[in-house]
Amino acid sequence: MCKIILHNGKIYTNDPENPTVEAIGIVNGVIEVLGSFEKVRKAIPGGRIVDLEGRIALPGLVDSHIHLNSLGSLAASLDLTKCNSIEELKLMVRRESENRGKGSWIIGRGWDQERLYEKRPPNRWDLDEATPSNPVLLVRVCGHVASVNSLALRIAGVSRETPDPPGGIIERDSNGEPTGVLYENAIMLIKRVIPPPSTEQLETMLSKAIEEGLKYGITLFGFPSATSSDMRALMNLKSKGLLKARVGVMYDLEYLDHLLRLGIRGGFGDGKLYILGVKTFLDGSLGGRTAYLREEYSDRPGWRGKLLLSTDELKYIVRKAHVSSIIVAFHAIGDGALQTLLSSIDNNTSSIVRIEHASVSPPDIIEKMRETMPMAIVVQPHFVISDWWIKDRIGERARWAYPFKTFIESGLVVAGSSDAPVEPVNPWKGMWAATSRSGPERITVEDAIKMYTINGGIAMGLAGYGMLVKGGYGDIIVVDEDPFKVEPNKLTSIKVKMTIVGGRMVYSNY
Ligand SMILES: [Zn+2]
Repeated sequence: MCKIILHNGKIYTNDPENPTVEAIGIVNGVIEVLGSFEKVRKAIPGGRIVDLEGRIALPGLVDSHIHLNSLGSLAASLDLTKCNSIEELKLMVRRESENRGKGSWIIGRGWDQERLYEKRPPNRWDLDEATPSNPVLLVRVCGHVASVNSLALRIAGVSRETPDPPGGIIERDSNGEPTGVLYENAIMLIKRVIPPPSTEQLETMLSKAIEEGLKYGITLFGFPSATSSDMRALMNLKSKGLLKARVGVMYDLEYLDHLLRLGIRGGFGDGKLYILGVKTFLDGSLGGRTAYLREEYSDRPGWRGKLLLSTDELKYIVRKAHVSSIIVAFHAIGDGALQTLLSSIDNNTSSIVRIEHASVSPPDIIEKMRETMPMAIVVQPHFVISDWWIKDRIGERARWAYPFKTFIESGLVVAGSSDAPVEPVNPWKGMWAATSRSGPERITVEDAIKMYTINGGIAMGLAGYGMLVKGGYGDIIVVDEDPFKVEPNKLTSIKVKMTIVGGRMVYSNY
């Protein structure tokens, strides 16, 4: 039996009946007792005792939408953002090649010629000097330019005879020989020959991504657009006892029919690893002008973006998924996409519908949300910071962007998330963005924490998660400052000292 007691702290429970306690006891992952140290110690004799030394503890945080696979592959690639010269970059590649077998791909990201001493992109001859025996792909910080070595070109079959692909440029020297610098779609010539990671590599990548979250106090991860390979790797980790947090998987939509054929209902699995449902896209992004708006973009007349599913298709998906209580997370950013989605659901089917992003939500859209009550609205507060150009894109409609306060006042369940690696993993940055923005949609710290705890639990299909009560999940974090007492602009610097999942200490920085 695994017993742990935390005491001598100020433990916020999120339970209105019992808002703070001094001690808590967890037995086999489940909260057994809360109250005074006296009471807890008596109830759990022989438990491992952890002294919080007066620190603050809270329920574990939920990131309801985090791309663990993309985050993991980023963590597995070389970070070139700090490189100051091509020589330095070559050294990093050479070291990496020494750590690996011949032939395995070395991928790096983040170089910027403005930062490099040589003031030019690295070319194939530079990278051949670093390693002739591993294919190398180094993507520029923007993602639109990449440098590769000769082996990578050879594997991809790119030579002086290869024409530029549509929408891409293969840079060539004065003799017509490819230099190894590729622009836009020409990068795909290389990317498509890179083998997908093995299950073992995927296990490492996914654990790295999860560990990154544990560092910030995330104990429950919502994993959208997952594939069968991702699930296989997660199951392997779990059976080896290496899955350190809880993961709710949302498969790519193409898996919906498989789930239905197998008779699987949403929630299949256990509290550690389970199938929440599927995820799909209704439109694109505001940044790329692919989000679907009801009226034209302010900076591109006549263009409204693109809707990726029709009302009929939507209704069909929702009806099918509803029969098996499979949650469908719909990526919907523009008001046009949101309107189409909301007109395809009703009070009955809305219980399985999660709306991801809901970025442009004018009052009539929020009214429709209030009428239909989807399971949750999953938002990423950090977009408020990143989308600083939003007024150029949508003009006056920007006042309806990310209306967290109006969502909350309308009684909607608003859950927080990062959408990492698009935005930073750190949920404290998300809370900071939501509580220190200017204007009427700023929310309180209490509401922000609720977004990342109780409401995250609801969005993840684990009702009661994010609250420390008897019989509840033993997921707790210890932090170095009281989030309810610090200035909102200091929320971003809160450090997590300890993360506990199911009574097990999975991260500690004591
Ligand atoms: Zn996403």
